[in-house]
Amino acid sequence: MLTPHAHLMHVYARQPVSFVRGQGARLWDAQGTEYLDAIAGVAVTNLGHAHPDVAAAIAEQATLLLHTSNMFGIAWQDRLGERLSALAGMERAFFCNSGAEANETALKLAWLHANRKQVAPPQVLVMQNSFHGRTFATLAATGNSAVHRGFEPLMPGFVRVPYNDLYAIRQAAEHVPGIAAVLLEPIQGEGGVHVASPEYLRAVRHLCDEHDWLLMADEIQTGMGRTGTWFCYQQAGILPDVVTLAKGLGNGFPIGACLARGRAAELFSPGTHGSTFGGNPLACRVGCTVIDAIEREGLPDRAAVLGRQLLLGLRKALSGVPGVVAIRGQGLMVGIELDRACGDLVRKALEQERLLITVTRERTIRLLPPLICDEAQIDEIAVRVRRLLQ
Ligand SMILES: *Cc1c(COP(=O)(O)O)cnc(C)c1O
Repeated sequence: MLTPHAHLMHVYARQPVSFVRGQGARLWDAQGTEYLDAIAGVAVTNLGHAHPDVAAAIAEQATLLLHTSNMFGIAWQDRLGERLSALAGMERAFFCNSGAEANETALKLAWLHANRKQVAPPQVLVMQNSFHGRTFATLAATGNSAVHRGFEPLMPGFVRVPYNDLYAIRQAAEHVPGIAAVLLEPIQGEGGVHVASPEYLRAVRHLCDEHDWLLMADEIQTGMGRTGTWFCYQQAGILPDVVTLAKGLGNGFPIGACLARGRAAELFSPGTHGSTFGGNPLACRVGCTVIDAIEREGLPDRAAVLGRQLLLGLRKALSGVPGVVAIRGQGLMVGIELDRACGDLVRKALEQERLLITVTRERTIRLLPPLICDEAQIDEIAVRVRRLLQ
């Protein structure tokens, strides 16, 4: 027998399971075994698997037009730019194919902003435990030494501060010259599900205004309704200058976006940025279809309600279970921190509970169920997690 994945580069630690079909929050392997999906492809398939509207949009657009070029007008791209701008309080969009590319776009805006202000060399304030991607710029922005290892020297231009710590940003404002922007996740996902306080986000917004920095929100994981509003920053009542999206925007079809407003929306000019595939008719039609479905099914509100149910259910189910340090989250983005490394639970959950979970930062179980789950499935997740931890 062939060694599994013999001709794939060793980038992923893969589970010994492979799925052939999905429906809503359920998945099946080739043997017909059914699994409950509590990760949605890491916050991607928010509408569940095989959503009929998304399937129909892909099928129909494939018979019309997949790709032309950004040399030409693309009606679906205009429409998606307009929809996202209205939902996010932004003005213009740039479309790409992944989260890392969306953040690359945001970082290029920060550099342009710095160079316009003539504060060279540019510096972007980033957070400890952040995750922004795997390209050279976004890995340097990421606050995780495991992501950096072997890729030194890192791209310069990033100053790291503790998350949710206003004093640290105030200190940086005083002592670090050349700051042009702050890049942060309103909830750190890969970093272990840490939620920034609304007061902190509002104070950072205020500091950005005071110092003429761009506030750039990485909503790649938190966006598209997952945390209870279309975008997580909306719960703090603030408006960033730049917002990055990907994951849930295409429900599994690859698409990323960088949104901006005000001066940040006017920094690029023809020739300063671009993408061959970015914003093609197929990707943008899928994005529009996903937005329509989220809107019609009321999924941001639904995520808030189900999220409360999940948090309450877990707190009840896990009370008295030894080793549980904290249960936290917002909407359908929930972390269960344990007192020990628990990476082995991912495999155990698959084998014993037929449940898909992830573990971040070694000791935090992260749950990201699809937003279309029903109440019974949310309860079932809590039941299976309890059995797993007992
Ligand atoms: C997943 C993620 C990224 C990277 O997105 P890719 O599509 O994998 O490049 C960046 N930022 C955050 C917050 C993410 O969760």
